[in-house]
Amino acid sequence: MTMRVVLATRNVHKVDEVSRILHAEGIDVELVPLPADAPDVAETESTFAGNALLKARAAAEVTGLPAIADDSGLCVDALHGMPGVLSARWAGRHGDDAANLALVLAQMSEVPDGRRGAQFVCAAAWVVPGSHEHAVEGVLEGSLAREARGSNGFGYDPIFVPQGYALTTAQLRPHEKDAISHRGQALRALARAWASA
Ligand code: IMP
Repeated sequence: MTMRVVLATRNVHKVDEVSRILHAEGIDVELVPLPADAPDVAETESTFAGNALLKARAAAEVTGLPAIADDSGLCVDALHGMPGVLSARWAGRHGDDAANLALVLAQMSEVPDGRRGAQFVCAAAWVVPGSHEHAVEGVLEGSLAREARGSNGFGYDPIFVPQGYALTTAQLRPHEKDAISHRGQALRALARAWASA
């Protein structure tokens, strides 16, 4: 029987990615969007897992349904792990992808090729109201390009080159990104935990 699960995000790109990844794992879920009147949850925790759990708990509480949430971001070695949990609001306005990307590129402009390492990190949380909660993490290692390339994906994809690749994640096809991505890894781990529960 298809399970109804609320996905705690307003980011349409994420809804697409999460549905694609879970369906590819054979997980039979109907992903329900967050109701329009659900209150915004302040991402006040200092870790991706902490914020993912905050969002999943709030979505489960508002809907009474099992909830999935993710929290993700870009961690840049030369910036001591930043933007990290601040990735979506790095340039000051939440969700301004173009400004966030331009700011990171500017901050990295003088950093030489050998020190441009970065990771995409994603924590995925699963909360069943009144029962249990679980969080897992996925990491994609890579480095930062010197200019934006490609038009797939979102956020920092045009400047992120996964380890072993010449292309940015914005130049990969969606299913190619899913196969290696931080979000793909976290959600597949969640799906495995789910299947064995
Ligand atoms: P969240 O919605 O709080 O998880 O914020 C995630 C932010 O991190 C996004 O706004 C992007 O800036 C960045 N980010 C996370 N995952 C990705 C990705 O797969 N590609 C590009 N940017 C990402």
